[in-house]
Amino acid sequence: MAKAQARKPISKGLRYGIFERDSFTCQYCGAKAPDVKLTVDHIIPVSANGDNDHSNLVTCCKDCNAGKGSKISLRTVTNNDLAGRLAEYGQRRELLEDLTRVEKAARRAAAKRLAPLLKLWEACCHTKPSLSLANLIEGFLSALGAAKVEEAVGVAGRWGRNLTGSDWSIVCKTAGYFAGVCKRMIAELEAKA
Ligand SMILES: [Zn+2]
Repeated sequence: MAKAQARKPISKGLRYGIFERDSFTCQYCGAKAPDVKLTVDHIIPVSANGDNDHSNLVTCCKDCNAGKGSKISLRTVTNNDLAGRLAEYGQRRELLEDLTRVEKAARRAAAKRLAPLLKLWEACCHTKPSLSLANLIEGFLSALGAAKVEEAVGVAGRWGRNLTGSDWSIVCKTAGYFAGVCKRMIAELEAKA
């Protein structure tokens, strides 16, 4: 997952410059100071790596800033350059939001598919799978499908039952054996194809 960028403060001077450029008018609804409290909004959100460049900043009243979803139309932009950029950024933002949604849904789906296998690992191998082992299982899950990976976890669990030594060495050996079983399965599938 991309790390969210830390929010850099917008300096007073920059804030004033943005307000002045936008004639102290909310660029989303047209409300003016002092009727409303003005804020500066990031067109591309900081969470999507939007920066503090003046082209990414726009005057926005407190209400519009609170209801991000409703900032659809930019009715009051008189500066054509800015209007064009805002429209472009608006589309990019929608695209970014769509991508984030798709990515999150895919992650949720992957976690859902993985969860029963991690439980099975715990039951068969008597150890909690580490993160790297979970990644290994996930990798084989996409290559082999759940039924085959389940089978491989069972085989590795039975194989590892009589191992002796430290927990750590048993985990490593069992994971290695499991990977070997999965690789053999993949080779078998490839030979059949
Ligand atoms: Zn507004």
